[in-house]
Amino acid sequence: MAAGKDLNNSLDLGVIVIEDDRRISVWNDWIAHKAQIPAAKALGRTLAELFPALEGAPLLAAVERVFSAGLPTIMSHHFHPRVLPLVEVRGRVVEPVEQSVVVRPLLTGEGRQAACLIQVSDLTSAVKRDRHLRKITAYSRTLFDMSADALVTVDGEGRMLETNPSFETLTGRSGAGLQGQPFCEVFLSVEEARSFVRQAFADRLRHDVTLTLRHADGGLRHVLLNAAVIPGAHSDDPCLYISARDISHRIEAQRQLARKSDELERSNAELSAFAYVASHDLRQPLRMISSYLGLIERRLGTALPDDLREFLSFAVDGARRMDRLILDLLEYSRVGHDDGRREAVDVAEVVNDSLLNLKLAIEESQAELVVGALPVIESDRLELLRLFQNLIGNALKYRSLDRLPRIEVGYRGDGGEHCFFVRDNGIGIAAEQSDRAFGIFQRLVPAEQYEGTGIGLAICKKIVEHRGGRIWVDSRPGFGSTFFFTVPEDAAAS
Ligand code: ADP
Repeated sequence: MAAGKDLNNSLDLGVIVIEDDRRISVWNDWIAHKAQIPAAKALGRTLAELFPALEGAPLLAAVERVFSAGLPTIMSHHFHPRVLPLVEVRGRVVEPVEQSVVVRPLLTGEGRQAACLIQVSDLTSAVKRDRHLRKITAYSRTLFDMSADALVTVDGEGRMLETNPSFETLTGRSGAGLQGQPFCEVFLSVEEARSFVRQAFADRLRHDVTLTLRHADGGLRHVLLNAAVIPGAHSDDPCLYISARDISHRIEAQRQLARKSDELERSNAELSAFAYVASHDLRQPLRMISSYLGLIERRLGTALPDDLREFLSFAVDGARRMDRLILDLLEYSRVGHDDGRREAVDVAEVVNDSLLNLKLAIEESQAELVVGALPVIESDRLELLRLFQNLIGNALKYRSLDRLPRIEVGYRGDGGEHCFFVRDNGIGIAAEQSDRAFGIFQRLVPAEQYEGTGIGLAICKKIVEHRGGRIWVDSRPGFGSTFFFTVPEDAAAS
């Protein structure tokens, strides 16, 4: 009996024996410790006396079933949590004990029922582990369900295992309708989808593959697929974790953009062809007008009364200005026709050439010219010459009458682009007019004061923008202007 007592007390299990008079005859150390009732106090008492709160509880009913019918009861913690008010004390922490309890008859040697045995095991850590696991599972499930990307897992046979709500929206099918179905058959090209799945399993990863998916409404969706092989949840077989992002809007926007840019290119080409042909053909009749006006002037010049001679000279002047305009238009329409020809150009040489071309105007105006250090860049020589000649020519033309012109040409390398400038101390441009100055045929000064057609800066703008650069002006009316333009540096020669 003593050995039995020792055995009972060494068990990691609670043991209670209740005799047929309902009094407790065995109360081992485990149960004494967790119930916080010593054996001396428990032995000879009933369970109801020890735990008044148990009155009417399933445990007492189970004990009664043993005595009345000899029937055992297993009380799992799922259905009967915390059968007995047991606790585990660790320092200051007192924690209830989750239990699994077996209540069964204890038979004597002759096979007669003598008493009732209650065995209690501590399931606290198992229950905790279980709860933690459920929490993690619920958390992962939430991540899966809340994803804006459509998510699906696919087994080695290509069948869908789990889908999230975004995948259901993307396909227009319910989760139940998708589970177990072949993943590849959701796609317009089943073959392409199969090859995606095959490759993903083979490489364990597959990135950014665009496929077309068939929505249940019959519409098509362009999706960007990414896949990774992950361990299966319900078997040892790996499965594919696939995310699908609907990029139909992006693809449609790209298509529209490409269409628009094609249209724009075509209409630009048509427009510049039209401007070229129109201005070219306009020069023929104009030449005729000019030459006949010249003839009339020569034949009748002296015989004509003063007023008619003046009319004639207006007509000759008009024809000459029109010719100038047409020539400028022709030049404007030709810019950008060479499709971005590039060569290494020494900008210092280009500026020098433009100064030679403007020699007369420079001498006449007694302008002072300061040219800073200039680089060699990849560009088109003729276009750069036109640019500098136009800008320096304007700086000379729009000089102030109060002072001698001073013009500075300079350069600064500026974060990925070459930036050139032409600075003058001329009449300047009002800030609100500065954009208009670059418009075609736009002039900010009275025609009778300064000669010009208003196309020079428009040509500069077209040249610069055709090369991917920008052009702008900083100015203080009455003090001078600085024109800046940039050339992207990616093709710099030095
Ligand atoms: P144009 O010189 O034939 O009139 P542009 O297109 O070269 O044509 O210039 C447009 C207008 O911008 C000019 O009419 C003038 O009013 C103004 N402008 C251009 N360059 C300067 C400058 N350096 N200083 C002041 N005004 C200028």
